[in-house]
Amino acid sequence: SREQLFQAQKMESLGQLTGGLAHDFNNLLTGIMGSLELLEVQVARGQVHNLQRFVAAARGAASRAAALTHRLLAFARRQTLDPKPTDPNRLIGDMADLVQRTVGPEIALCSRLAPDLWPTLCDPSQLENAILNLCINARDAMPDGGRLTLETSNTSLHASHAGEHDMQPGEYVVIRVADSGTGMSPEVLQRAFDPFFTTKPLGQGTGLGLSMIYGFARQSGGQVRIASEPGAGTQVCIYLPRYRGGVAEEEMKPSRRPAAPH
Ligand code: ADP
Repeated sequence: SREQLFQAQKMESLGQLTGGLAHDFNNLLTGIMGSLELLEVQVARGQVHNLQRFVAAARGAASRAAALTHRLLAFARRQTLDPKPTDPNRLIGDMADLVQRTVGPEIALCSRLAPDLWPTLCDPSQLENAILNLCINARDAMPDGGRLTLETSNTSLHASHAGEHDMQPGEYVVIRVADSGTGMSPEVLQRAFDPFFTTKPLGQGTGLGLSMIYGFARQSGGQVRIASEPGAGTQVCIYLPRYRGGVAEEEMKPSRRPAAPH
């Protein structure tokens, strides 16, 4: 198959962030104002029965706006990373039930975890977040069900190959999330990492998932790659640098933070 690899795009400027925020917010405010106007008209006409639905619609839009603000603030604060030696296999094993419950019974979850996987140095809660986000994207791309694969592997990137991936040569752990869903058109794929880029209906997507995963991977010394084609599904690979210390040993000394990778 003709797989196309697109390089993760750089995060967009603050101006574009603000523009995206204003756009999403305006849409939600339009919804709230529309509901309130309808409510006003009904009340003015003395039709005070069944007003509940206008109130509910306004409240729904307001709470989506609040959720958006919340996520935006977290994004603006830049996730503060607390890197620890981490075993991605264990993390994935621990979240398998959560993932299956999140994607639902129509999606078959399959894990292929490398038995000799290297540890990596990253913030485990951010990695968990990233994987869950990818699984939610996979679910959204498979409305009629399908197959979701979580796979881990070790890889060594030599100078020539590393440059191609915009990474330092060296040893990496790869976490691959693949789905049998709709896939992405080249236009969507090129914009997928842009903050606020979403093809999902209002209130369902913020367009921040992949841009946050990209930020996390880059700050951890790694990379994110997407291969996707319409009709052929999507695979996202998170590369994280191999950690050469012992995992158990470091866990004994939680007060001593390992140095961040570069
Ligand atoms: P959101 O999920 O809120 O839209 P993301 O940044 O996670 O934000 O994704 C941006 C867009 O990339 C999505 O709206 C969708 O169009 C596309 N996308 C992401 N993951 C997948 C996937 N697994 N399959 C198909 N399209 C995807």
